[in-house]
Amino acid sequence: MRALTPYHVPPAAGLIKLDAMENPYGWPPALVDAWLEVLRGAALNRYPDPEAAAVKQALRPALTVPEGMTMVLGNGSDELIQMINLAVAAPGRTVLGMEPSFSMYRIIAAAAGLNFATVPLDGDFDIDLPATLAAIERHRPAVIYLDYPNNPSGNLFDADKLRAVIEAAPGLVVLDEAYYPYAGVTLTALLDEYAHVVVLRTLSKLGLAGLRLGVMMGPPAWLEQFEKLRLPYNVNVLTQASAVFALAHHGVIDEQVRTIRADRGRLLERLRALPGIVVYPSYANFILFRVARGTAARVFEGIKARGVLIRRFSDDHGALADCLRVTVGTAQENDAFMAALQAALHA
Ligand SMILES: *Cc1c(COP(=O)(O)O)cnc(C)c1O
Repeated sequence: MRALTPYHVPPAAGLIKLDAMENPYGWPPALVDAWLEVLRGAALNRYPDPEAAAVKQALRPALTVPEGMTMVLGNGSDELIQMINLAVAAPGRTVLGMEPSFSMYRIIAAAAGLNFATVPLDGDFDIDLPATLAAIERHRPAVIYLDYPNNPSGNLFDADKLRAVIEAAPGLVVLDEAYYPYAGVTLTALLDEYAHVVVLRTLSKLGLAGLRLGVMMGPPAWLEQFEKLRLPYNVNVLTQASAVFALAHHGVIDEQVRTIRADRGRLLERLRALPGIVVYPSYANFILFRVARGTAARVFEGIKARGVLIRRFSDDHGALADCLRVTVGTAQENDAFMAALQAALHA
């Protein structure tokens, strides 16, 4: 435990917050009023429905969960990753992830006593298939984690390579689709083809990060096992009531997602027009870009000094050296970011 470092969330008070892939929009006042009316009826003296049946019923069509697949809900998908790692943990076991990818896989694996092995992605942040197959052979991983799209690079892995990894996997493959709303493509069809695959989704990046609701979908044979590790009341009364309400009014969030996707396109174009930076394609609500060698810290601090918080990666990330990641915000926030970036680059 002493060797672990906790997931660090930098303070953002007073800054335009473009570091955590949040949807920047709130709800119109009439919708907030209707939601508060729902909360009025929430029974805080009672434990929540342990099955969260109403939430699952609303999620099934919203996420188009394939027929025959079941769901396990988590307090965010972080908790689902924790359940998966706890379920497979045993001395000498390894889980495998790509490098770079979502940092919680490593943190939770270490806490569960698992070895965490990584395979570097290639120069385009796609799967390096020969290296990945070799790592699978060497480690025989109990779980392989793949982000689709990948955080923090924003790209989608090549479908044939993904399939080859799934076919070589001796254990479970977790396809983490946290950014599904912004990608518009899903791998859920693979659930029908492979019995050792599960898909993770979350409402966080969609616009409900504060609710903490993650969803695992997959075959009952696997999910029944994870369900044993789920704490009985992990999805609280307020989250359950709010999620059902939000899913019933999803048109508002769908519209926000459309706006963010369009603004992502504009932001990509504006970044690409800047000389001296490399911009990576994005299927998510964030953009990764690379600045001149050795200048990321200075540019990051320059942007922050101008009131905008984005994400910088620690210097030891080989593939992410000189990279910064910005969340797509409102049009005004994106303007403020672009102005801050240009000023920081020329400072
Ligand atoms: C943000 C993120 C998560 C965690 O989402 P929560 O549901 O908020 O816990 C999981 N996976 C990836 C790839 C993410 O980027």
